[in-house]
Amino acid sequence: MNDSSTRHIALLGSTGSIGKNVLEVVRQYPGRFRVVSLAAAGRNLGLLRQQIEAFNPLVVAVADEREAGALAQSLPSGWSDRILAGPFGVEQAACLPEADTVVSAIVGAAGLLPTLAAIEANKNIALANKETLVMAGELVMEKVRRHKVRLFPIDSEHSAIFQAMEAGRRQDVFKLILTASGGPFHDWTLEQLTGATPDQALSHPNWDMGKKISIDSATLMNKGLEVIEAKWLFDMALDDIEVVIHPQSIVHSLVEFIDGSVVAQLGVPDMKIPITYALSYPERLRSNAGRLDLSRCQDLRFMAPDPERFPALPLAYLAGKKGGTCPAILNAANEVAVAAFLRNDIRFPEITRVVAETMNRLPVNSILALGAVLDADLAARMQAESIVASLALQDKARTATVPAETCLTFPNS
Ligand code: MG
Repeated sequence: MNDSSTRHIALLGSTGSIGKNVLEVVRQYPGRFRVVSLAAAGRNLGLLRQQIEAFNPLVVAVADEREAGALAQSLPSGWSDRILAGPFGVEQAACLPEADTVVSAIVGAAGLLPTLAAIEANKNIALANKETLVMAGELVMEKVRRHKVRLFPIDSEHSAIFQAMEAGRRQDVFKLILTASGGPFHDWTLEQLTGATPDQALSHPNWDMGKKISIDSATLMNKGLEVIEAKWLFDMALDDIEVVIHPQSIVHSLVEFIDGSVVAQLGVPDMKIPITYALSYPERLRSNAGRLDLSRCQDLRFMAPDPERFPALPLAYLAGKKGGTCPAILNAANEVAVAAFLRNDIRFPEITRVVAETMNRLPVNSILALGAVLDADLAARMQAESIVASLALQDKARTATVPAETCLTFPNS
């Protein structure tokens, strides 16, 4: 295989769930893909060391500066100047001249800045970090156009839509239909949801994912973030993006055209399929992922999401429609609330309540520059932390038999 057909990959978020799958794909197609840089938070140095040994990247960035130092010390001496430290080190790893494609798979808001830096360095992006588009879609898409780079979705729903879109002309698209598994609680009552524990929320029926995204799947906030992501990726109005619950996760999403034809993408739930497509586009590579056996899929069900039990979804639509800094506020408050739920500081329905109240309390500004997004992100985190603290106090005073939390006040639309 000659060098021009090899994609040179900067992998941001290498020790996370997506990052590990990306490296499995790279391992599966030697010669097609070469990892030139790895970036990780620094929470799992043991795994990062294994990845360095297996893929021999040119540089490695560790976001936590102390952990970067620890990593440098544990590697042979020749390595010390190939270890980059801190958030700026992560940006350097993303902008490495040898890289042509950056896989953006850092979890949460931390993925935004290195992804923007990569676009400005004219890299194509394989995007798994949805926060990049949720927080700053307007700015990001403007930079994508200006730098003439491509943005390939890794998220399974957006990969499905990206593929289904190829069946027709853009102006003939009528609407997008995103499927959602509904998470582990899709058939739980409001009362049951009040008692849902982190362990229950983390046991996703179909996908093996990181903690943050598993909780987001259980609240349906993940789908809300994906709706906003789809709006920017495919330049669609939010009213033309629909969500259906599909517990089997076989139909990954659909595109309806103006003639009434609906084109879907199906497959076994394996992230290596959308990852490989994002990295090999427009080519398709022979995969050793599982094959779909339709004769064993007799029970594919679809139903409308319930806004009463899962108010995070309408809340995300509202944030998307308000625009400006509102989606960044939604996202930041949600990150704080999910972390609080994982610490057992708040109850499951309170995750969405914290987000709604944070949106209520903060003004929405337009996004003229990145600073506005980062300011909104910080303000929302502080506001959400204080709401979490007061809820945690209330919870201590509560008896065991309080009724389910039903009175969620939505911000004025
Ligand atoms: Mg998804």
